[in-house]
Amino acid sequence: MNDIEKNLLLVQQRIAAAAERARRDPRDITLVAVSKTQPGAAILAAHALGAQHFGENRVEEAREKIPLIKRQLQTATWHLIGHLQSRKVKDAVALFDVVQSVDSLALAQRLSERAMSLGKTISILLEVNVSGEPTKSGFVLASRVEFFDAARAISALPHLDTQGLMTLAPIVPNPDDTRPYFRALRELRDELRAQMPNRAWQHLSMGMTDDFESAIAEGATIVRIGRAIFGERK
Ligand SMILES: *Cc1c(COP(=O)(O)O)cnc(C)c1O
Repeated sequence: MNDIEKNLLLVQQRIAAAAERARRDPRDITLVAVSKTQPGAAILAAHALGAQHFGENRVEEAREKIPLIKRQLQTATWHLIGHLQSRKVKDAVALFDVVQSVDSLALAQRLSERAMSLGKTISILLEVNVSGEPTKSGFVLASRVEFFDAARAISALPHLDTQGLMTLAPIVPNPDDTRPYFRALRELRDELRAQMPNRAWQHLSMGMTDDFESAIAEGATIVRIGRAIFGERK
């Protein structure tokens, strides 16, 4: 077995074990293989081993890589997980199926307009900066009313399918210490559901290599895992 194969199997086993501990169905958890900085060959290898979802954090890098392998990866789904600048919306809509990093109403409006002109619907998640760390992007919750107003307006935009929330936990020595941040995202989702029962807000994208088991314990439906699959980034 090569490393990607071994790693992918181990990650899938760890996801299943974490789901079982939380009395959840592992099939309710989607693995996004975070392929940023990885060459196309590594992505193709992971796809051949069953990875279906890939995450990239930079539009420029995706623009170089995805078109070269897209034909061989017809069934794959591409997720943008990094901050999106409005001037890159056009490329992002062409390249990605899911934008997990929507962090303003203005950005969502641009995505909606662009998706409309391509006759396409883009799935989106709202990125929330739960910890409030200044280095992170995402909606801050200083004003919850403002966040809920934005979420309501975004979920009404055409050509966007608003599916839930995404967050990154702070880097902490003990992965258990990330749980309050993941729990807070789940509670926020529950509030959105209560306020907007016509929307499922079904996805919670949370958990990476160092903390995905904690995220699954708190209800993650999407985990974004890079290093545990592809090895350390150079
Ligand atoms: C890089 C990245 C990940 C994956 O991180 P790993 O520690 O390699 O698992 C997940 N989410 C986002 C937003 C990232 O930028």
